Amino acid sequence: MSEGVVIIGGGQAGFQVAASLRAEGYAEPIRLIAAEKHPPYQRPPLSKAFLLGKMDKARLLFRQPAFYEAQAIDLFLGERAEAIDPAARTVRTASGRTLTYDRLVLATGTRVRPLPVAGTGLGGVVYLRTIEESEALAERIAAAGRVVVIGGGFIGLEVAAAVRMLGRPVTVLEAADRPMGRVVAPVISRFFADLHRERGVELIVNARIARLEGEDGRVRTVVMEDGTRHPADLVVIGIGVVPNVELAQAAGLACADGIVVDEHGRTSAPFIHAAGECTSHPSRFAGGRVRLESVQNAVDQAKAVAAAILGRDEPYDAVPWFWSDQYEIKLQMVGISRGHDREVVRGDPASGRFSVFYFKDGRLIAIDSVNRPSDHMTGRKLLATGTSLTPAEAADGAFDLKAAVGR
Ligand code: NAP
Repeated sequence: MSEGVVIIGGGQAGFQVAASLRAEGYAEPIRLIAAEKHPPYQRPPLSKAFLLGKMDKARLLFRQPAFYEAQAIDLFLGERAEAIDPAARTVRTASGRTLTYDRLVLATGTRVRPLPVAGTGLGGVVYLRTIEESEALAERIAAAGRVVVIGGGFIGLEVAAAVRMLGRPVTVLEAADRPMGRVVAPVISRFFADLHRERGVELIVNARIARLEGEDGRVRTVVMEDGTRHPADLVVIGIGVVPNVELAQAAGLACADGIVVDEHGRTSAPFIHAAGECTSHPSRFAGGRVRLESVQNAVDQAKAVAAAILGRDEPYDAVPWFWSDQYEIKLQMVGISRGHDREVVRGDPASGRFSVFYFKDGRLIAIDSVNRPSDHMTGRKLLATGTSLTPAEAADGAFDLKAAVGR
């Protein structure tokens, strides 16, 4: 028997590599090292249903503990990988174990980007990434007088929606000139800005935070560079994430905004793969390398890594897609709109149901949909098959998108 596969990271990608290997008949040992003490779980509900108390903890788990036993997947929970020796093919852990591997998979994910101002160590200043943080946040929201959310990205807006749904006042401070500006078109940002304001969120853009001030060790005020003061007894920071590449870097693996991998998830070192949001991978949808923070990327890249370990040539080439739920509104995104030179709106934003089609050099590269799931699902097929549309077709509500797939 061989040493099998060691997976570092118990998030969506690490879990999927283990599950896919077993599902595809891999019979050698699988050991999964995870820093958190829970069996692998889904993070998206932590800023949505779970935060709102509408989903219990057991349902967050991808699989119950019995699955890992039945599948002979050894979980090392609450354990950290500290060093990799690619020559000896070993991983050393914080508790002093040395695990030998035939193949190693790095699924180390990302960590929250810290807000670089004074006062973030005060009580009542929180980030959101783990089950414990979501549970604690729900309790704090229930007791909060005034919540300030720093960052108007996915975390910030989903948390702000939850705070309003729980009936508390909230201010969102976004550094850019519009929310979700990194990923969506201005028309979508405007729609969500209006939505949040209608629901009672105080949304402030171009926000420059100077420091957080407190009393008796607890946060009281967010102070802006222009001197404006926002009272707060709960501050939630969601200003993005940074990839966990340090283990890979220390082992000499090539890294550049993520662990550099090829279309099979192979790193620059032999016998070491990587998957998920810690990787920078080639993508025809991005027109080059990209690091994607999404469930889809974690799942599909992990499947490609499992296939590669099994000796199959099944490169990662799936269409990227993303989603966000805010109040009762569903935002679905497919493709990568970065670098687009034209936006076309289909449907009427005032109706609360519309899509934005993004074009680059005349080719369709992405679609963002608000409460138009069929545009999104058809969009996945259009992009996967490399079908383009003309901007006029995209804008024409009578034009049959489905019929165009693969033409
Ligand atoms: P994010 O989506 O990158 O958004 C961070 C936002 O914070 C950006 O709009 C950013 O503006 C802003 N920002 C950065 N520095 C700031 C500062 N000093 N003051 C105020 N605003 C600042 O990241 P996130 O919302 O923190 O989410 C973390 C991770 O969880 C991401 O991987 C995200 O994709 C994932 N997530 C996904 C979903 C979903 O897909 N539905 C939901 C929750 C979380 P600039 O763009 O100008 O920097």
